[in-house]
Amino acid sequence: MDSDDWLDFKRDEFKKWMEDERRRTGLSRAVSAYTLAKESALSRLPELEETRREVRKIKELSIVRMEELVKITMDSVRDVNGEVYLAKDAEEAKEIISDLTGSGKLIVKSKSLTSDEIGLNEALEEMGNSVYETDLGEFIIQLRKEKPTHMINPSVHVPREEVAKTFSELLGREVRPEIPELVGVARGYLREKFCNADVGITGANVISAKTGTIFIVENEGNARFVSNAPPKHICLTGIEKIVPTLSDGFKLLQVLPPYATGVFMSAYVSMITGPSKTADIEKTIVYGAHGPKELHLVLLDNGRRRMAEDKIFREALYCIRCGGCMYECPVYRILGGSFGNNYFGGIGLIWSAFTAGEAQVAAAVDACTKCGRCKEVCPLEIDTPRMVERLKEKLVKKGFVQPKHAEIMKSILEKGNPFGEDERNNYSV
Ligand code: SF4
Repeated sequence: MDSDDWLDFKRDEFKKWMEDERRRTGLSRAVSAYTLAKESALSRLPELEETRREVRKIKELSIVRMEELVKITMDSVRDVNGEVYLAKDAEEAKEIISDLTGSGKLIVKSKSLTSDEIGLNEALEEMGNSVYETDLGEFIIQLRKEKPTHMINPSVHVPREEVAKTFSELLGREVRPEIPELVGVARGYLREKFCNADVGITGANVISAKTGTIFIVENEGNARFVSNAPPKHICLTGIEKIVPTLSDGFKLLQVLPPYATGVFMSAYVSMITGPSKTADIEKTIVYGAHGPKELHLVLLDNGRRRMAEDKIFREALYCIRCGGCMYECPVYRILGGSFGNNYFGGIGLIWSAFTAGEAQVAAAVDACTKCGRCKEVCPLEIDTPRMVERLKEKLVKKGFVQPKHAEIMKSILEKGNPFGEDERNNYSV
């Protein structure tokens, strides 16, 4: 970006959010509902205190062993007749997936931040494919041509009245702003897509290296359709999602739902180990029974290895993407969370810096108030404020300094005070 483009770009984004009453209404309704549900779940799960500490240790160990775990996962997936790929960056991942889908196909997707990170939908649509998001929030966002604003609830900023307008346009008839009715519209519209899709694309919440098992956690049941109904299942996920064993994966699953949505356990947890198969006739294995015939796992680096090498930023890779810290962030409530990027809130600044480039977050890091709430509420006690501070230092060294700050800095260095006044000695102690 040239000169002050990096500032103007975010200024517009911030202004849009601050002027948008409608978005804040949606957000504040969601924050209240989430907070009540989470507090109630945590008060009834005291044992979670110990489990979340265990999960932190599992993640620490997994990131240290990342390279080894990637190799083990690749071998395990091949052992169960899956195909596996390691993409170094977004371009390579898109190329791999585009080769697998081809063009002119009907593709259904379940929620995947990693696919947003690489701009997968746009790439697939450019090739002439029809791509349908099937998570309700993602579906709403896709129809409205907006960006998601939360990792668990992508359309959290869209109140029911706006959803009703969007669905009315889609169906060409009036849809009332009644939430159960809105959910019914998505169910009816997407059902036929699930059944006729050529390819299903999902993300993963965890991968167990030893067994090559993909864990997908969800409440709506759409990811089950996506990963089961089409003949080809492609799973795209970051290499930080790998843990050594199934039991490590189960530990993480105990922590995620209460912190993500305030429930003891999500409605569905799919565990997928290879494509569907049967050996019911003469014990001869045939791949492709009722589920997909092909399973392709695409593991993505795209900055994660660089993150893992840094003692401070490595912590961002421990994130299990519960989204809890966003609801607690005072800045998120006013400015939304993505700041025009694909990851959200304070932790999202770090992720976006590594996956999309530091210039993308240069203006947004100053929005962080360092209140520290994100660290307090994080089940893994991830020190996001420390990482944001470090990122800010790096950016300043690279010349990303707000003009007002640059002026103050110059005045301190040249005149000994931040006010631009000449009487240097007045300020000496
Ligand atoms: S940083 Fe912590 S609270 Fe925030 S999304 Fe990640 S795991 Fe959840």
